[in-house]
Amino acid sequence: YRNLMETTEEWVSSRTQSEIKMRQSSLFPILDDFLNLLLQVSREELPDDEIVLLWQSIVPAFIFLFGYVSNRETDIYIEHLTSDLEQAMLRLEKMDKTKSDFIAIAAHELKTPLTLIEGYTGMLERSIKQPDSGEQNMVLLNGIENGTIRLRQITNDMIDISLIDNNLLKLHFQPIWMNKLIKSLIESQGKAAQARKITFEFNQFPGMDEMFLGDEERLAQAFGNVFSNSIKYTPDGGRIEINGRKLPGFLEVTITDNGIGIDPEDQAMIFEKFGRIGEVALHSSGKTKFKGGGPGLGLPITRGIILAHGGSIWAESEGRDENLCPGSTFHILLPLRKEAPV
Ligand code: ADP
Repeated sequence: YRNLMETTEEWVSSRTQSEIKMRQSSLFPILDDFLNLLLQVSREELPDDEIVLLWQSIVPAFIFLFGYVSNRETDIYIEHLTSDLEQAMLRLEKMDKTKSDFIAIAAHELKTPLTLIEGYTGMLERSIKQPDSGEQNMVLLNGIENGTIRLRQITNDMIDISLIDNNLLKLHFQPIWMNKLIKSLIESQGKAAQARKITFEFNQFPGMDEMFLGDEERLAQAFGNVFSNSIKYTPDGGRIEINGRKLPGFLEVTITDNGIGIDPEDQAMIFEKFGRIGEVALHSSGKTKFKGGGPGLGLPITRGIILAHGGSIWAESEGRDENLCPGSTFHILLPLRKEAPV
């Protein structure tokens, strides 16, 4: 019996997770077939008295085995279900944490520009009653405008992430050129970079002047997020270098900064929704302020746009060090599509 138990144990525990899940490779039907075969052969080959003797010795062993196998297989199936359940619980807990993080971050993000708008509106109300307040009113109106622009950006990000999550992002393919895209982004982000004394260096590369099809607006948004992060996470006086190369059927663009860097364990997480590293309370709504973290939707949106184009994006860095500033490199791979997908 000990031998039978050991052999059974070896069999039931050697099954793969998917065999356990699908309740396949059970020993039960094999034992059943084996018993039937044994009985059939004994009936054909043995005299009646020997059949009785044989049955007397093997039937108890089979009864024991059927019970043992059934118990062990059920135990292992329950263990498997329990671990599945534990993993599902962990996923749910993580989702719940993500949800409450999102609420905290979204509330904070929305509150900052709202407070700004409220403040400027109150001041404008008082200022408007003063004589010759025209110039001052314009400054206050500007403040309100900046607040609403920021609010619009945050709500747009939220809409974009929900489109990406639900596979509803629609791309409008049109002819584009990588060098034009990069140049116009450097131009549009030039002011923010200048304010932080950060320089852009765009090194020409083969393939950058080749026409390909893509959604210009969405790609500008995706690359723009990476550019503005490079500004945000690089101290004043830093440098952002843009390089690239042509691969068979693809264009690879790299954006390298000499900023604070990203720890290897965070390099995948930053592309996850609300994967923003650090404390909620430490972030500010600034788009380009040094380390001014946003709602942590920028890179997930960027990745969603790049993936929708059939490309990929990843980050490389030696690690995060705010004193040594090892820098980060973002790689973006895009197919040199010549025809719009149907
Ligand atoms: P956020 O709105 O917080 O900037 P993102 O999704 O754009 O959100 O970025 C996620 C996180 O990735 C950032 O909070 C930051 O910690 C990290 N990160 C992104 N780009 C860089 C970079 N160039 N250098 C260092 N850290 C970066």
